[in-house]
Amino acid sequence: MSQTPSQPRKFLVMGNWKMHGSLADNAALLSGLVAGAQRAGDVQLAVCAPAPYLDQACRTLTGTAITWGAQDVSVHDRGAYTGEVSAAMLADFACSWVLCGHSERRAMHGESSALVAAKAVAALGAGLTPVVCVGETLADRDAGQAECVIGDQLDPILALGADALSRMVLAYEPVWAIGTGRTATPEQAQAVHGFIRAALAKQGAAQTRILYGGSVKAANAAALFAQPDIDGALVGGASLIADEFLNIAASVA
Ligand code: PEP
Repeated sequence: MSQTPSQPRKFLVMGNWKMHGSLADNAALLSGLVAGAQRAGDVQLAVCAPAPYLDQACRTLTGTAITWGAQDVSVHDRGAYTGEVSAAMLADFACSWVLCGHSERRAMHGESSALVAAKAVAALGAGLTPVVCVGETLADRDAGQAECVIGDQLDPILALGADALSRMVLAYEPVWAIGTGRTATPEQAQAVHGFIRAALAKQGAAQTRILYGGSVKAANAAALFAQPDIDGALVGGASLIADEFLNIAASVA
């Protein structure tokens, strides 16, 4: 299942810097991205920076074609939640995006799919676009449970309905491909993206963009982007190198 062919896809290539960077390193990376952004053509570019650097991203990228976002958000609006960052705070720094339910947060911080959906709702409430991440472990895949696990992760998100779904982005990130150098083949990725697309279509939200993430590099991006249901990439390690990140975006045919 793919999107309506009459509507051209608007590809999105988003970097997830994770817990990397410094003021000096980010300045160099961002200036490289700004200088080369035209190489991305019509592809939308975004970076998700660690929270302390959102001000730097905002100052450096305002007025450029590159958008920015955060890597997590609180479900709470305000209050005694030490260490948490609210969606309104992210909006104060003009974030367009926020990752919700990255597998590292699900695994290391015990984030449930219900919590991830609540985070997406908080983000939408502040005018941000949540990028909701789903994906199976290698054990899930080897047990033939990939779709079942992803279906369970999607359920509370799908329950938010067509309007909410149309204002978010989904990212399929097989856990076994994140930071491992092992990418899903384009066919493996497309199979899951097709499954997610069908689930979105059932809710009346077939146009919601679905990114692929997991060891995406310039060398494998074009084959992934050629798949009918892959609308871009969520890029970890390779997003820390301006040239490589821009080459990924430039791989969209
Ligand atoms: C990620 O962290 O979202 C990711 C896809 O990482 P990498 O590209 O390094 O596998």
